[in-house]
Amino acid sequence: MPDTQPILSLKAVRKMFGPQAAVDSIDLDIAEGEFFTIVGPSGSGKTTMLRMLAGMDTPTSGDILLRGERINDIPANKRPTCMVFQSLALFPHRTVGQNIEFPLKIRGEAPERRKARALQLMDLLRLPQSYYGKNVLKCSGGERQRVALARALAYDPQILFFDEPLSAIDYKLRKTLEKELKDIHRETRKTFVYITHSLEEAMVMSDRIGVMRAGRLVQVGTPQQIYSTPNTRFVSEFVGDVNVLPVSIGHDGKLHDATTGLHLKAPPIPRDFVQGHMVIRPEFLRFLESPEQADNAVSGRLYNEYALGSRIQYQVRVGDSVFVVEKLRQQPFTGRLDDEVIIGWDARDAILVTD
Ligand code: ATP
Repeated sequence: MPDTQPILSLKAVRKMFGPQAAVDSIDLDIAEGEFFTIVGPSGSGKTTMLRMLAGMDTPTSGDILLRGERINDIPANKRPTCMVFQSLALFPHRTVGQNIEFPLKIRGEAPERRKARALQLMDLLRLPQSYYGKNVLKCSGGERQRVALARALAYDPQILFFDEPLSAIDYKLRKTLEKELKDIHRETRKTFVYITHSLEEAMVMSDRIGVMRAGRLVQVGTPQQIYSTPNTRFVSEFVGDVNVLPVSIGHDGKLHDATTGLHLKAPPIPRDFVQGHMVIRPEFLRFLESPEQADNAVSGRLYNEYALGSRIQYQVRVGDSVFVVEKLRQQPFTGRLDDEVIIGWDARDAILVTD
């Protein structure tokens, strides 16, 4: 078998609940050692997809292959994979060590070997060795998260599935754990398949991201591809604040803002493009002294300002529309609320999407 065979393949996988397809004709290959994240809004089918991949549910049609072998009907406990849940499912009233050693115990490993492995995993997960005898109920949320992951790794699975494990954790700790999870992925070289509704979380950790909408995978790519070349308005808006202008090709063959008729300079226009949207991320919009300083420029009124740590976000009202502009705090800008301002962007920083 070639080295490039995917560890996990989905072929036209579909799951019906009554007349509704929760997951609809998904084709996907996940590479050995990859950190693959499935993102999508609530109800898009992420959990259903993960449950089928983990063996907790069977597809209505299509195939799931593990290293080329069909595993559709193999239950979760017979698969060389492991799920880490949001609820963690740790054994309460047991110690950190007992929780981590559980998979080793059922496999019949001797107590000294179990303890040695548990301490090794605690080290990997940045849990102090003194926690070995600590009751898990006395651990913080973040520590419990690490215990759950250590226990999952103790199974030595070929693939780890993560069902929104960080969603119940406060923002600051979540940010720390995202980075730790990425480090752990690198150190263990395991295949991680992760679901979340937060694209921001997916961006930090993943090698590749699959965006789901209404049961379908609408785009698969690296975080950079998803961010800079979204293929639909839906994906572009899912990434965060964006400016979206309805555009169409006029009789002159040029691109126009569909509401104002304003001619817009654009990146190369796809041959079959007739109408759609121009997407510009806030950091590519800038305040200008005069309209000639950018390929495209509009005037408006500065009407709101938000401090976002190292960046400042502004809202600029242009006619009936609102543009979102972001700049780094250290970049000079003397505009005040209610000032008339000119904002602009260059053609190369705009993205054209057809929907
Ligand atoms: P969330 O982020 O809210 O968890 P999700 O993206 O994980 O959402 P799913 O839970 O996979 O979405 O649900 C996808 C669709 O399938 C939804 O419309 C849901 O109502 C439906 N669905 C999921 N499980 C069942 C079930 N057991 N019976 C009937 N419908 C279901």
